[in-house]
Amino acid sequence: MEILIKDCLIGGAEKSILVSDGKISEVGKPKTTDYVINAKGMAALPGLVNTHTHLAMTMFRGMADDLPLSDWLNKHIWPAEGKYLGGEFCRTGSLLGCLEMIKSGTTCFADQYFFMDSTAEAVRESGLRAYLAQAVLDFKTPQYEAGDALKVAGRFLRNNPPDEMIKPMVGPHAPYTCCEETLIASKELAQKHAAMLHIHISETKSEAEQIKKEKGKRPVEYLDSIGFLGGNVLAAHCVYLNEHEIQLMKKNNTTISHNPTSNMKLASGVAPVAQMLAAGIPVTLGTDGCASNNNLDMFGEMRQAALLHKVAALDPTAVSARQALQMATTNAYKSLGLNLGLEVGRDADIILVDLKKPHLRPVHNIESHLVYSASGADVDTVIVAGKILMERRQVKTLNEEEILEKAEEIKP
Ligand SMILES: [Zn+2]
Repeated sequence: MEILIKDCLIGGAEKSILVSDGKISEVGKPKTTDYVINAKGMAALPGLVNTHTHLAMTMFRGMADDLPLSDWLNKHIWPAEGKYLGGEFCRTGSLLGCLEMIKSGTTCFADQYFFMDSTAEAVRESGLRAYLAQAVLDFKTPQYEAGDALKVAGRFLRNNPPDEMIKPMVGPHAPYTCCEETLIASKELAQKHAAMLHIHISETKSEAEQIKKEKGKRPVEYLDSIGFLGGNVLAAHCVYLNEHEIQLMKKNNTTISHNPTSNMKLASGVAPVAQMLAAGIPVTLGTDGCASNNNLDMFGEMRQAALLHKVAALDPTAVSARQALQMATTNAYKSLGLNLGLEVGRDADIILVDLKKPHLRPVHNIESHLVYSASGADVDTVIVAGKILMERRQVKTLNEEEILEKAEEIKP
């Protein structure tokens, strides 16, 4: 199928984009074709990528807020997970998450959670791209008994061989919930399947101190010493990294997912993002789960990233709008190996942002508007792999009304 996106703004110039068989085949003034989207007054950009989510946690959105981390986890999140998590619950939560991502311009995401087969089903239905990690923890979880995690993760990899839309990952939860043996076995499992790993590292100060006490090394030093780190590792949070650990992440070519809203909401701390960028690490951006954000809007996340580091360093030049946008786009493409961009030959994951709104006029600088003034609700149209998932805010692949009703019906 061919789609012509007519008269959209790319950078500051009005151009048209021709999409043929899932790829961008022409940019400029292509001939017209059967299906035309009039994009006058809209900014075109390649899809946003959310590199750290726990998608089915959309079901816990707004259930417990403004609490200390230990109370939040022990008294609310873990008991709710124990009581409610299951295939159907996670499928509904994942559909809700996919719907929210489509409606806010995210075209690809990296997840780590339980019942990942259900999330994979939802992703297929939605038409999004995803990197999906079955969570691996040493103790009993709502999905499996203690000691069974790697068996479940192995089954997920076998059931979901990588294809154009879904790449399975292995998700050792964190160095404080997985012992050394589990971390190494996870790494070997990932290597066997040519998959990436998705882990949390140094989210809180107490975690960094605990690892230091137990292993005699800081978390990143410990993970480096056991050979865990590498170019196939996606590490979320990375709040408590010192200069040596930043250099180790760089040396190992490990991908970092910065999660500013979650770090602020749970009062975890401020990740040294300016130092990571200065070290040449292509930092990416993620929302984390909906219980600690509380949404999946990458426009909001870009704004938080740009603002947090300014106030933390008392430096208004820290993390520019351009850098925040790069985190949500090109840095993620590079880190995850996505062939995206508004150029001929790239995969056609394209979003149109409607600039014909009071809060987006006048248009001096589109990057500035995208980061400092737009929200996911300004996304008009979403195309992934050449398929229209949303046009004029009507989602075509999912039944919006049905998903919203189901989520309300089975909520905790
Ligand atoms: Zn997380």
